[in-house]
Amino acid sequence: MSKRTGILLVVSGPSGSGKTTLCRRLADEQEARYSISCTTRAPRPGEVDGRDYHFLTQAQFVEKRTAGDFLESAEVHGNLYGTLKSEVTGLLERGTDVVMDLDVQGAAQVRACEDPEIRQAAVDLFVMPEDESELLTRLSGRGTDSEEVISLRMKNALEEISHWPLYTYRLLSRSQEEDYTRFKALVFAERLRVNRQINL
Ligand code: 5GP
Repeated sequence: MSKRTGILLVVSGPSGSGKTTLCRRLADEQEARYSISCTTRAPRPGEVDGRDYHFLTQAQFVEKRTAGDFLESAEVHGNLYGTLKSEVTGLLERGTDVVMDLDVQGAAQVRACEDPEIRQAAVDLFVMPEDESELLTRLSGRGTDSEEVISLRMKNALEEISHWPLYTYRLLSRSQEEDYTRFKALVFAERLRVNRQINL
């Protein structure tokens, strides 16, 4: 008989790249479990504690960080974000694939993780629009934001994008369907890696 260890799929990309939709859909289709992060940012309308994020106070977050509970953590746009080790390790051991939506700092920490099992399980993907004009269109959103807000978002997105060469995979986004098809192909191929298979 043969068994395999789970994939730790790290997905990054600027806001508006569609990465969260890809991760959520993979989890909805039960191909992987979505890693629910902790954050100190306030919930947005419609967001549910324990489903979208574990919403923590600054003190709760710092306590967990000091206790060494996080696999990775980072400050993004003035708020703290982190992945609890307990959110991923048991699942990976049981052969369940886990998908994580992380910023570039978090992805770098996973890559440099001391735990060899995490490093072996991890594979990373950067999702980004094909060109800057497409990025601007996506960041302009509903057209209700000021030019100042949009140009700050654009600056942040370009900074984030500059990290793509550090990733193993890159997906230049087209339509949602096409992106998801290619995303799933990546997951399916990763499952076939010899170093993920265990002969019993
Ligand atoms: P948002 O607040 O819009 O949901 O997320 C803001 C940014 O934080 C996104 O780039 C997202 O990928 C990133 N992020 C969400 N959860 C985590 C996490 O647990 N760790 C890190 N490092 N980044 C995260």
